[in-house]
Amino acid sequence: MATTLETAYDLFIGGKDQPGSTGEQRILLDPATNEPLARAALGSRDDAHAAMEVADRAFRESNWATEDGARRGRALWKLATLLEANADAFARLETLNQGKPLREARGDIGYVVRTIEYFAGLADKVEGETIPVPGTRFDYTIREPLGVTVHIAPWNYPLVLAMRSVVPALAAGNAVVLKPASLTPLTAVALARLAKEAGIPDGILNVVLGNGAEVGEALVQDAHCRSVTFTGSGEVGSRLALLAASRLVPTTLELGGKGPVLVLPDADVDRAAKAIGYGIFGNAGQMCWAASRLLVHESLREPLVERVRAIADRLKLGPGIQDGVEMGPLVSKEQAEHVLDYIEVARADGGKVVAGGSRATEDALRAGNFVRPTVLVDVPATSRVVREEIFGPVLVVTSFRDVDEAVRLANDTSFGLLSAVWTRDLGAAHSVARRLESGMVMINESPMTFPQTPFAGVKSSGLGYEQGLRALEPFTRRKNVLVQLGGGKRPA
Ligand code: NAD
Repeated sequence: MATTLETAYDLFIGGKDQPGSTGEQRILLDPATNEPLARAALGSRDDAHAAMEVADRAFRESNWATEDGARRGRALWKLATLLEANADAFARLETLNQGKPLREARGDIGYVVRTIEYFAGLADKVEGETIPVPGTRFDYTIREPLGVTVHIAPWNYPLVLAMRSVVPALAAGNAVVLKPASLTPLTAVALARLAKEAGIPDGILNVVLGNGAEVGEALVQDAHCRSVTFTGSGEVGSRLALLAASRLVPTTLELGGKGPVLVLPDADVDRAAKAIGYGIFGNAGQMCWAASRLLVHESLREPLVERVRAIADRLKLGPGIQDGVEMGPLVSKEQAEHVLDYIEVARADGGKVVAGGSRATEDALRAGNFVRPTVLVDVPATSRVVREEIFGPVLVVTSFRDVDEAVRLANDTSFGLLSAVWTRDLGAAHSVARRLESGMVMINESPMTFPQTPFAGVKSSGLGYEQGLRALEPFTRRKNVLVQLGGGKRPA
């Protein structure tokens, strides 16, 4: 799966690579160098509608939705096996396109393999129920797939976040149209090709590339669209939810975050520091669930900030594809500028930079989108840097005097995705976990998730949930069947 400018990454519709109706292409840049990396077709509104048409036909005409779920499970299992066999090539492609260190990209691909295996095992467990009703009647429900489901994914974990909803939708028997982020479409196209090899019928998994505002909105507005799963910014998510609602199409939204990490006075400072470093500098901080606000008890502020500063200063920056690199570039020049602007806002608001705070200027890094891991202290609580999602390697530190103040600061945000608490006191850990307004809480753990654990945000971080046993629910509907059995006692 070598990537050169000659390698075509086209739309994948109806089991075939398709260049797109306008023939237009976008040159993708390697974020570590800003040199051209690959060409990707630029789809149009017409391509989006064509893909929806093809998916609808495949849903009705192939046996994907109607066959025994175990057969869907076997096809998905085969896809997992093929992906695992090609894991290294996929990881390299993800790293070249998105920038993250190869070690992280390998973790991502392993996560996708495990996600496919998990939902492959659920494909034959889409069960209805029987419901007691009066008289000689019998009532039962059937769980049916919806039809064509639309999935719009962001660029920070390109394959993981696309597959997190695509796979359960497929397991439940739907036909899927996926739009990966415009900057990072490569692994999604490569995976759709593998799905064909795994025996998933043509037209059941389609990938449309192109600009979000054009192609993404066309997919959501298409008459065949039966559900929308969107992972990305709050602004786009709410717009799509409104568009979908006008046609009574349900949406699942996974949006931004500003995750607080509460470090109580009895915490294990060394372990907390490592987890905080991972939670804000992993994937160069481009994580919805980033641990971006450190709330530390005043007694631990100095030792903890010192440890996190040391981690930030030691991290080896470089192109993700190189051995030993611990933090890669940001995904684009624009994203790097965006993050640097926030650091300037912090300075202007009176904040102090204790680590990083600038672009990396070494010769080998200057051309890429590298921003140094940054730790900020003394930023006022009202600053945009404390309140808004930065989506980069920038940690803001605030101290507190008691647990009530810590919980109040943690919840003083419009977001509610992931929070963490560090303490050796079991009672304090669980009571703080209950009081935190967020969809996920980590106790003495860095940001972590598994295909079997629900992933969800509250407040402006999202609507609905993904992963776990119930993840097939949004991709099925319940049909109720009431039967008059006749004979015996007459019904009331
Ligand atoms: P984005 O909203 O700009 O783009 C996300 C996707 O939507 C892309 O595929 C994009 O092409 C498409 N899009 C853009 N405008 C659109 C429109 N008008 N109509 C339809 N589609 C459109 O987000 P991004 O910059 O790619 O990702 C960063 C954001 O994603 C951050 O806010 C981050 O917190 C969030 N995110 C959330 C989660 C989660 O699980 N909660 C995970 C990862 C990222």
